[in-house]
Amino acid sequence: MFSGKTEELIRRLRRAKIAQLQVEIFKPASDTRYHDEDIVSHNQNTIRSTPVHSAVEILLLAGDCDVIGLDEAQFFDQSIVDVCNSLANQGKRVIVAGLDMDFKGLPFGPMPDLMAIAEYVTKVHAICVSCGGVAQYSYRTAANQDIVMLGESDTYEARCRACFPLLS
Ligand code: ZN
Repeated sequence: MFSGKTEELIRRLRRAKIAQLQVEIFKPASDTRYHDEDIVSHNQNTIRSTPVHSAVEILLLAGDCDVIGLDEAQFFDQSIVDVCNSLANQGKRVIVAGLDMDFKGLPFGPMPDLMAIAEYVTKVHAICVSCGGVAQYSYRTAANQDIVMLGESDTYEARCRACFPLLS
């Protein structure tokens, strides 16, 4: 949530642009918390992106770009795994940002498989709002138990393992 995933994605994509590489950025069309065509991070550091309704759309739209960025990848369906492999097999660099765990502390959507097939995985962490420790969990402060609560980003808090209540 507040770990700087999108900032890190944007940083890497900006570097690719500086290197004169063709960069394309995609995110699930269902993620409409902010502007439709911008990836907006918490510090308002924005970069243009294309919302897609399904993972396979990315294959059609990727064209002859060199670097593909994906944001909020946890909201794509499982087919995003084959799409990423296919793009990487074409020689493209694929940089994926997403939440690894849902608010229950369980692996989120296609993220475990994406992490398995990736050459490199970087975990960025937030700061626990309870104790100031390193936070890896998104604790939901609202009672709703749906996995996806878009537009409600302020109902989550970063929590560390010790401060994250077990919800089994
Ligand atoms: Zn804590």
